[in-house]
Amino acid sequence: MLEKDLKKVLVSQEQIIERCTEIGAQLTEEYRESVGNVLFVGILKGSVPFMAELIKHIDLPIEIDFMCVSSYRGTKSVGDIKIIKDLDRSIIGMDIVLVEDIVDTGITIKRLKKMLFDKGAKSVKVVALLDKPSRRQVEVEADYTGFKVENEFVVGYGLDYNQLYRNLPYIGVLKDELY
Ligand code: 5GP
Repeated sequence: MLEKDLKKVLVSQEQIIERCTEIGAQLTEEYRESVGNVLFVGILKGSVPFMAELIKHIDLPIEIDFMCVSSYRGTKSVGDIKIIKDLDRSIIGMDIVLVEDIVDTGITIKRLKKMLFDKGAKSVKVVALLDKPSRRQVEVEADYTGFKVENEFVVGYGLDYNQLYRNLPYIGVLKDELY
């Protein structure tokens, strides 16, 4: 049903799970000494499937939480961000792993990193399922990236088009006539 709307598949479910296994092992190693102090923060709604898969491969006791922010697309100023759902707890002194669906212009993660440090985080690292390096407008990179994609609009695995296709279990590109 959903598959017929796609022009092509860019990243399969198997590839995503394999990459989450690899990144999960790296994060497990990186935060081994921080047990009890690590909070994974997912950005709603796009990060939900990636967050769910990734944390299954973290072999440490971690906490998870979610934030929802408005993106103000079109503005370039950093720090101007509206919180729709805030974190449930104080993060003072905590090691934060920010989990995002995609880094595009970079504006969102740059703002979020600043906000998390302003809230007192000890460290903030960014994990993004996808990266579109050709679109970057501000100097910021994810610390861990699942896959690099070309400059085209992608959907699936949390990423939407008009709030649809988030439940597609892989990453793809929609047929031109759907836009
Ligand atoms: P940035 O601030 O890096 O430009 O924006 C990141 C946000 O833009 C992502 O979290 C995502 O919601 C949205 N976005 C950027 N590129 C795409 C894309 O190719 N497909 C979809 N569905 N969303 C995108």
